[in-house]
Amino acid sequence: MKIITTIVELQQELEMHHLENKKIALVPTMGYLHEGHSTLAKAARQDNDLVVMSDFVNPTQFGPNEDYENYPRDLARDEKIASEAGVDYLFVPTVDEMYPADGGIRIEAGPASKILCGAARPGHFNGVLQVVSKLFHIVQPTNAYFGQKDAQQLALIKLLVRDYNFPVTICGVPIVREDDGLAKSSRNVFLTAEERKQAPVIQQALQQAKDNFLKHHDKEFAIQNAIDMIETKTSGHIDYLELRSYPDLQEIHPETNQFLLATAVYFSNVRLIDNILFTIEEI
Ligand code: AMP
Repeated sequence: MKIITTIVELQQELEMHHLENKKIALVPTMGYLHEGHSTLAKAARQDNDLVVMSDFVNPTQFGPNEDYENYPRDLARDEKIASEAGVDYLFVPTVDEMYPADGGIRIEAGPASKILCGAARPGHFNGVLQVVSKLFHIVQPTNAYFGQKDAQQLALIKLLVRDYNFPVTICGVPIVREDDGLAKSSRNVFLTAEERKQAPVIQQALQQAKDNFLKHHDKEFAIQNAIDMIETKTSGHIDYLELRSYPDLQEIHPETNQFLLATAVYFSNVRLIDNILFTIEEI
C-alpha cells in the first residue's frame, strides 16, 4: 500500500490505471479506522482492480462548535488497518492540500439535508458534498463505497451523483456493529465507561420501534416507545428519532415501501447516530 499526500501524486499514480480501464474504487473516510471502514474497503477490493481510501478529517463538514479539533486521529494505526483490508493507495492530504484557496464557490445541498442530522448540524452536508465532489474529481473512481451507518449522507451523495452526472456508481454497505449491537464509530471512544455500557440500548430501541411499527402500524407509538426506552435506560438525550421513507427521506405515506428509522443521541462528550433500514415486505 502506498501512502500519498498530494493530489498531483495521486493523479499521476492513477493515470496509467485509468488508461488501462482498470476498475477503481474510492472509499472516503475521516480516518481513525475501525471494522466499519475495513468492511467498506474489503467490499471495494472484491469488485474492483484498485482501491483508493482517503483519510481526511474534512473541516468544512464540521460546525463551529463541533468536534473538529478533537476528532480522533491515529495515522499509524490507520495505515495498518487499511493495508490489511487491501487498500492500494491511502490518500492522506493536509487541509491546505485540499483547500489551498477559497473562491467562495459552495455546494448547497437541498431540503433533504436540512432534516434529521442536518437540522442540528447546519451546513454539515454541504461540506460532505464538497469534499466528496473533490474526491470524485481527483480519483475518478468507477465505484465509491459509503456506509449505511450514515444513511442520510448516502442518500444525499446519490442525489449529488444523479443531479450532477458524476460518472460513478455509489455502493452502500450495511452497518458493522460491536458484539453488543452498538454501531462501530470512530466517536465511540468519547463515551464514558458507563455510557459505553448503556449505548447498545440505541440499537435495541430502534429494533423495538421497527417491530412495533410493523405490528401495529402506529408510527407515533413506535417512535415514542423507542425515545422513552433510550431516555430511561441511558443517560443520553435524543436529538431526533424519526421514521422516514428511504432514500427520499420524506414523511412516510401508505405507499412507502422502504423505511429509514434513524436516531441521534447526545451523550456527555459525543453525539452518536444509528439507524435501521427495512422494507414493508418484512411484515
Ligand atoms: P467516517 O470516517 O466516519 O466519515 O466514515 C467513513 C465511511 O465509513 C462512511 O461511508 C461511513 O458511513 C462508513 N462507516 C462508518 N462506520 C461504519 C459502520 N459501523 N458500518 C458501516 N460503515 C461505516
